[in-house]
Amino acid sequence: MSGPRSACDLCPRRCGADRAAGERGACGAGRALVVARAALHFWEEPPISGERGSGAVFFAHCPLRCVYCQNALIAAGEAGAEVSVGRLSEMLLELAAQGALNVNLVTPTHYAPEARSAVAAARAEGLSLPVVWNTSGYETVEALRANAGTVDVYLSDFKYADAALAARYSHAPDYPEVAIKALEAMVDEVGAPAFDEVDGMPRLVRGVVVRHLALPGALEDSKRVVRLVREHFGDEVLLSLMNQYTPVVAASAAAGDARAARALGRCPELAGRVSGEDYERLLDYADGLGIEDYFWQEGGSAEESFIPPFDLTGVRERSRAWAGERGRGESRASRFGVGRQGARSALRRAEGRASRRGAQGAMRGACALRDAWREAAGARRHGAGAGERDPLRLPRVSGTAPLRGCARASRRCSSTGASA
Ligand code: SF4
Repeated sequence: MSGPRSACDLCPRRCGADRAAGERGACGAGRALVVARAALHFWEEPPISGERGSGAVFFAHCPLRCVYCQNALIAAGEAGAEVSVGRLSEMLLELAAQGALNVNLVTPTHYAPEARSAVAAARAEGLSLPVVWNTSGYETVEALRANAGTVDVYLSDFKYADAALAARYSHAPDYPEVAIKALEAMVDEVGAPAFDEVDGMPRLVRGVVVRHLALPGALEDSKRVVRLVREHFGDEVLLSLMNQYTPVVAASAAAGDARAARALGRCPELAGRVSGEDYERLLDYADGLGIEDYFWQEGGSAEESFIPPFDLTGVRERSRAWAGERGRGESRASRFGVGRQGARSALRRAEGRASRRGAQGAMRGACALRDAWREAAGARRHGAGAGERDPLRLPRVSGTAPLRGCARASRRCSSTGASA
């Protein structure tokens, strides 16, 4: 079945809306497939965005509807246009033609049948890029199993370990239990992380990235999330700890949004930001658990201006503004690229060492860069002395996109088979 369901059970809400008849579900989605943006996106984790950008398709509506949603405009369905499955398929091909590293379906849960059909049609037309399923983690095991053969990479949130917090912020007390089962299903489906190489950089072609967005005042829950991920999955997934929380809900309330004002009245802590100290404590906690490598972010919370404009770019027709988008993306990516200088220097050193050890082949490509990033991150986390310039910690420039450092400890690297 590739269209909306008559008694929808696509997400764990299982609200049973008759979407085929036009009824809207708890997620806000009805009969039509609605997309708000299809464009290159440069702010995912490095092996997903790379320097070319990820081909991101942002769907409207959302099953989870967190009160602090960072993409509230599309989650509420206030942006987007109705498109056919055929048009969605064309968008994927157009993103590939623009040089995307992958196609990245952002919150597709409630449109899963249509998304799978579009991927199948695009593949029949030659699409060969990895398919990324970018999800809140609030997924049913059944729906994920239906993705087998379609999805290569899961980029999944794991938002809360505590049911009360999940109820408070997402009206989903079952979230922790659901998300763990969903992550298990994802790992079962796509396996351990594997990379190839594009432009000399590692690209994630298979595996699961577990993202956790630190929330203001919720450090202890974040620690529980990290511990759960470690205990359940070890090195089977890549962990990404994010500090880009932006109090969008406060801005919306100030702009007169009644729903946001009610949410803020109930959860006033969401008007704040995540302190640098708390984020450091979270990273220290991950270190203390023996998680050698994970994605982390530099700088404070993201500026609201870094939320992409949901202006139908690339939706109705191939984006004529693509050249402009690319230019802007490169500008932001170049700031990220500054951070890579340290990694690249480390890469050269790593390659030199590998050559001296006669293990050059094993240290090339994705694994070499992985180790380089590890070296840079290790210096940043453990070795940088007071006043010493930290290779991944650069002064935050006002308006700069958060810099993501990364490293990976996976023992599997499909491109080389090297061992970390
Ligand atoms: S995807 Fe939407 S309509 Fe379907 S069960 Fe979930 S909330 Fe209801």
